[in-house]
Amino acid sequence: MHGEALKMLNIDHCYVKYPKDLYSCSALIIPGGESSSFSKLISKNNLLDCLKDFAEKKPVFGTCAGLIILSKINTPLVKGLGILDIDIERNGWGTQINSFKHNIFLPDQCNSKFNAVFIRAPRITNINDNNIKILSSLNGEPVLIQKKKCLGATFHPELTSNLTIHKYFIEMIDEKIIRKS
Ligand code: GLN
Repeated sequence: MHGEALKMLNIDHCYVKYPKDLYSCSALIIPGGESSSFSKLISKNNLLDCLKDFAEKKPVFGTCAGLIILSKINTPLVKGLGILDIDIERNGWGTQINSFKHNIFLPDQCNSKFNAVFIRAPRITNINDNNIKILSSLNGEPVLIQKKKCLGATFHPELTSNLTIHKYFIEMIDEKIIRKS
């Protein structure tokens, strides 16, 4: 759970279900799960415009299904927010039984290896925006990307005890209000 990772970093968090929940947030993590369900809920709970608006101003991190939601995907089941201009293939690494762990290398700032957990993970098949940086790849394919304050992982960084990626994301927050006393 991302909440557990944030707790370990002494960062307050809440869960966002409705637009009003976003007002007090300094940053947002869209977790893994099922992008078609997220897409349905985003539309049902009127979150589409305010999520787009939020992502223009504040850091957003999408992991696995969350990254699918950040993309421009537009299928009958999943409508992305269009924040990251990437082509993405849902379940691109296979189904649940093809889930796997693999060491990846993190960017210079983090200077470490990271044991990444891929569960029905999407595949980034193309990056259509020169402003998107590839922070880490697996077998030559991007698995961790960044555009300004928007971070996307095809894996689940919250399922390991290594907090490096969460720390990297938290560093993007300008406000000094986030740490618990
Ligand atoms: N395959 C899922 C989807 O398309 C994502 C899986 C995950 O988030 N672990 O939404």
